[in-house]
Amino acid sequence: MCIFCKIINKEIPSSIIYEDADVLAILDLAQTTLGHTLVMPKKHYANILEIPDDELAHLMSVVKMLAKRISDKLGAKGFNLLVNTNEVAGQTVMHLHVHIIPRYDENDTIKIEFTENKLDLNEIANKINEL
Ligand code: AMP
Ligand code: ZN
Repeated sequence: MCIFCKIINKEIPSSIIYEDADVLAILDLAQTTLGHTLVMPKKHYANILEIPDDELAHLMSVVKMLAKRISDKLGAKGFNLLVNTNEVAGQTVMHLHVHIIPRYDENDTIKIEFTENKLDLNEIANKINEL
């Protein structure tokens, strides 16, 4: 059984901030920023591609509700939502989870940087749109 399934089964303790029949939200041990939260389906899906759309819709509505509640209660000015998918993208726990990372200012304890590449956008779009 994966570590998040054990948390969901209460075999491993966690700091729960939301729970219903299908979704659990806990504080991330890492606390990358204050209030860093993980929202996960109670059923084990390895990643976002595996979860049925209706269950994903409910998961995301909980994410939205909690992102607002966390921001309001902790005084965050914004937040980043992150879903790492597969090892190459930094996924370490293979049970779908959405990170809510509250943001307090531009110099807080997380840095997200987009590097620019000079690539042909038409060529990329054609490749993606190809049947
Ligand atoms: P990811 O890299 O997207 O797979 O994220 C996994 C996250 O789970 C990391 O941010 C860890 O800090 C967090 N994590 C791992 N084990 C626990 C745990 N027992 N309780 C809370 N968070 C955890
Ligand atoms: Zn699991």
